[in-house]
Amino acid sequence: MCALYNSDAVVIRSRDYRDYDKIINLFTPYYGRVSAVVKGVKKPKSKLAGIVQSFTYGNYQLYSGKSLGRLVQGKVLHGFQELRTDLVLMSAGMCILELIDKAIPEGEEYPALFGVTLSCFHLLEKSYPPSLVLRIFEAKLIHNLGVSPELSGCINHGSITQGNLYFDPETGGLICETCFEQLTENRGPGRAFPVEKGSINIIKRMFEFPVYKLRTLKPTQLQYDTLEKMLTSMLEVHFGIVCKTKPFFKTNLQRNS
Ligand SMILES: [Zn+2]
Repeated sequence: MCALYNSDAVVIRSRDYRDYDKIINLFTPYYGRVSAVVKGVKKPKSKLAGIVQSFTYGNYQLYSGKSLGRLVQGKVLHGFQELRTDLVLMSAGMCILELIDKAIPEGEEYPALFGVTLSCFHLLEKSYPPSLVLRIFEAKLIHNLGVSPELSGCINHGSITQGNLYFDPETGGLICETCFEQLTENRGPGRAFPVEKGSINIIKRMFEFPVYKLRTLKPTQLQYDTLEKMLTSMLEVHFGIVCKTKPFFKTNLQRNS
């Protein structure tokens, strides 16, 4: 099918292609990830140069060819300039783009996740804690990919009234102390680890509430660590996704504090 179409999109990245062209990688709400050639964009007077930078939110006119499509024109709706000038914000934004790149296939629609992406970029721009924004994005990504962990009680026994709580990404949620002991006896603890109630309450909200209701959350450092462990282990176990930009983000964050 060859056709001209229009779509809002966020630029994941663009890379050099031939002498004057680039290949752009976009995240769109209704076509998933889209790759397209941007012809002549490296020529000095090209009007397209301003719309191919990572993080740019724009409206793009695309031509879908038999193989690689072509970007015809576009206009910037929001540039997210701060994400390009501040190293902490930039690396946090890069983590989000990397996760989208690895998780979202071409041709599938993810309008809700598209909205979440823009909201998270806005939160970064408005100086909400970047670690909080990343945890929110990870939770929303997992949810939009169709996985919701069991967090109301032990996945095998229901409500947990005594003993410690554990999270097992492989069975998909919380387990009680008895289940953890059984698991350890059968095959070693695997990837299960202890969690406390505060972190569970926060992560529950991250799966249930819209982004704007989560921006005022104030996890403690221990809770941040637990949330990160829960979310990254789910991404890895269920989708095989590991964010390679994260160490770069953490280094920048430490330097800044
Ligand atoms: Zn149990």
